[in-house]
Formats: sequence, C-alpha cells, structure tokens
Amino acid sequence: MDVLKITPRGYCYGVVDALTLAKRAARDESIPRPIVVLGQIVHNRYAVEELDRHGILTLDGPDRLRLLDEVPDGATVILTAHGVSPAVRERAREKGFHVLDATCPDVTKTHVLVRERVAQGYHIVYIGTPGHPEPQGAMGEAPAGRVTLVSSLAQANTVDLPEGPLAIMTQTTLSQWDTADIIAVLTARRPDAEVHNEICLATQLRQEAAVKAASGVDVVVVVGDPRSNNSNRLVEVVEKVGGTPAYRVETADDLRPEWFTDARRVAVTAGSSTPSQITRAVIGRLESWNVATVPDA
Ligand code: SF4
Repeated sequence: MDVLKITPRGYCYGVVDALTLAKRAARDESIPRPIVVLGQIVHNRYAVEELDRHGILTLDGPDRLRLLDEVPDGATVILTAHGVSPAVRERAREKGFHVLDATCPDVTKTHVLVRERVAQGYHIVYIGTPGHPEPQGAMGEAPAGRVTLVSSLAQANTVDLPEGPLAIMTQTTLSQWDTADIIAVLTARRPDAEVHNEICLATQLRQEAAVKAASGVDVVVVVGDPRSNNSNRLVEVVEKVGGTPAYRVETADDLRPEWFTDARRVAVTAGSSTPSQITRAVIGRLESWNVATVPDA
C-alpha cells in the first residue's frame, strides 16, 4: 500500500496568523492577564491544548456574547480566525477588555461586503453552516430581517427571496461544488442577484488537491477535528466529487485497518485547522502498517 501525501494540506495562512498572534501575546508581559480566547482559536482540540500550555484560556460555546460574561474583568480577549459579529466587539469594548483580533482577512472581507451591500439597500442571502461561528459573525453585520441563512439545496428552492436588490454570499470553508449547486438554484430563481462566492483560496486549493488525488487512490484519509467544517467538507468532496471512500480521523489512533482491506494506494490530507504533527503521526502509522505488510524478501 502506497501512502500519498496530498499537497496543500493542513494549516492555512489564517490559522497560522491566529496562532502566532496568540503565542506572541502569551510571551508579551505588558498584555493584561488572563488571556482568554473567545471560542476555540481553531476547531482542533490539540491546537487549543497547545495554547493552554502557553497559559492561554479558551472559553468555548456557540454564543460569543454570553461567553463574554464569563471573561474576568481586565482580561485580554482574543477573537478567533472566523470572526465575530459587531455586537460582540461592542460588548467587549463596553466591558473594557483588551481585544486582540485574529480574524482572517478573508473573513473580514465578507464582513465588509455585508456592511456595504446592506448600506446600499440589498437583502443578503448567506450560504453557510447553521450554528458555525463564521455565519453568526458575518450575518451579525446585517440588521435583523436583512439577511437570510441558506444551508441546503432544499432551502435554496423554497426560501423566501424578498423583492429588491439581492446579494448572495458564502462562508469561506464550504464545499465549492455544493455551493455552486446552491448558487445555481438561487440565481435561477433570481437572475438579478449579485453573487459573491467567498470560499477562500486555502479551502479551494485543499479541496481541489484532495479531489484530484482521490481519482488515483483507493482510500482517502482526512485528518481533522469533528468540529472542523473544512475537514468535514474535505471528506464530502472526496466522496461526492472524487468518488473515493474517505474517512476523517482526529488522530492516528482512530485509523481502522478494515478501511484499507485490499487498498493498494491511500492518500492523506488534513483540514486547515489540523496541526502538522498530528497529520505526520497519521502518515507514520499508515506507513508502518505498510512496512509491516510487505512480505519478507
Ligand atoms: S480557512 Fe480560509 S478563511 Fe478560514 S482562516 Fe483559513 S484562510 Fe482564513
């Protein structure tokens, strides 16, 4: 069994920048303590545990506004890579926290776009994953009633599309193929809609590389946390677009030998929130099985 390492895989520029900002803050004694991350810095518990070892606390939960109430007075608050709504920023300011913003520029770009189009009188249709922090943050840029979340083809067919100017926008970490299908349905219903596909380059490149590799292997392994949207999308696109079985594992211990029965080639990729040492361990485990199964000369 050959083990193919798909490139690019793992940490994207937004995640690298967010982790660098947090670790730099931990080293800077002039920054108020405690240092608290509002939500997981990236959706990977090993990345969160690493920050913990640097003395950085993580408060986790879907409601960022409520989480702010748990932050001790005088603390430093780090905003995560996939952004927060203006209401969260405002509350953090009111509470007098020292705020460090790790929002990825690709996410900020969508926030700016939502604000601009709302100011120009557009209604926003935002394609995204319900309950994920990124849609909550971006949609929070629009007043209530001016933005609609769409998360499936079925919804795209039935959702109410108000009259007047309409702008369609997307979360950064979606499947580009599923999103194209949803956009096609929406624009068939409203050909006048303005479309802004905001899937970021890092997500696109990882998906395209995984789908391309899938065509030449028997199994694809995606290394990523169960809560990582982009890792789960990699599994989906490999299976739906690449037509190859794919399994997500959090660590090497999740690998199951029965997945590789009769497999001659396996490819490994990782979500953009997965630390490289975990991916290396998965590759190492697969390669050790490989060696173990090579017959003696
Ligand atoms: S996945 Fe894309 S949007 Fe998210 S942090 Fe990485 S580069 Fe930024």
